[in-house]
Amino acid sequence: MPSKAARPSDAGLIDRFGRRATDLRVSLIDKCNLRCTYCMPAEGLPWLSRSELLSGPELIRLITIAVRDMGIAEVRFTGGEPLLRQDLPEILAATAKLNPAPEMSLTTNGITLAKQAADLVAAGLTRINVSLDTLRQDRFAELTRRDRLADVLSGLKAAKDAGLSPVKVNTVLLRGINDDEPADLLEFCLENGYQLRFIEQMPLDPQHGWDRTQMITETEILDRLRTRFQLAPHPEDRGSAPAQRWLVDGGPGTVGVISSVTEPFCASCDRTRLTADGTVRNCLFAQTETDLRGPLRSGATDAEIAELWRGNMWQKAAGHGINDRDFAQPERPMSAIGG
Ligand code: SF4
Repeated sequence: MPSKAARPSDAGLIDRFGRRATDLRVSLIDKCNLRCTYCMPAEGLPWLSRSELLSGPELIRLITIAVRDMGIAEVRFTGGEPLLRQDLPEILAATAKLNPAPEMSLTTNGITLAKQAADLVAAGLTRINVSLDTLRQDRFAELTRRDRLADVLSGLKAAKDAGLSPVKVNTVLLRGINDDEPADLLEFCLENGYQLRFIEQMPLDPQHGWDRTQMITETEILDRLRTRFQLAPHPEDRGSAPAQRWLVDGGPGTVGVISSVTEPFCASCDRTRLTADGTVRNCLFAQTETDLRGPLRSGATDAEIAELWRGNMWQKAAGHGINDRDFAQPERPMSAIGG
């Protein structure tokens, strides 16, 4: 049950269910250079203008407040497509210099990763997630409306060669489109030393067209993998990590499934999100958000900004509510929230 008491004076980001956010997801930009069918329409979306976007110094200030004053220990950079941000190396380098230094990671579609991997490492990045839903060129072009599979594959290799570790692959399966590829994708990742994570498709598309029957569930994913591999529960405790993991053929290879819909993990959620236009969201599916850009640009102190952020977190709901009868999809689409 949520605490009815007033928010206790705690420097951290806590909510009424006793959870504490230590993992900050930062959406650096809403723009993307792919048009994945389950994420956005072919024509794209009305992008944020340059003045609506947080500037590099504004982003660095907010990340600093989160790490220095509110106990954030992990920072993941997302988008849209974060590699489209010109000042990404500066933002990474400034975050890496923070004390205590947070663990940094980034989620990308990999399209321009082959060219940028070395710069990301030089700026302090150590690990990366690359979205890849198919190994077939025709399907890639159908799913993303761009014929760029080769670029993603060379991006993955460049990330590994540049020393990023782990290099994870995030895959979304859609019924009747790529749901016959789980075992092929796992084989590909095991052969190349990438860690594969399947993600159940979530209702976060701008068209609000999500159809539960089109989603491939965790159970179905595991059944498809077991046609070629032996899977055993991973011995390590999952903690607050979104992915449930399995050892493949006795290990050391692993595979993970992020089953937000069929096996929600909200009870141990430790995430808070900052959007590219400067609002904080206490959940991917939050119906409300708190603007920090306005106060930031009108002279608020770091302490005032932190208080607004804490107030937002205190209102966090118990969970996403996707399986509730009265579930309502948030207005803001995934591409403007970030993974
Ligand atoms: S749906 Fe919301 S509460 Fe649940 S794990 Fe994701 S961000 Fe956390």
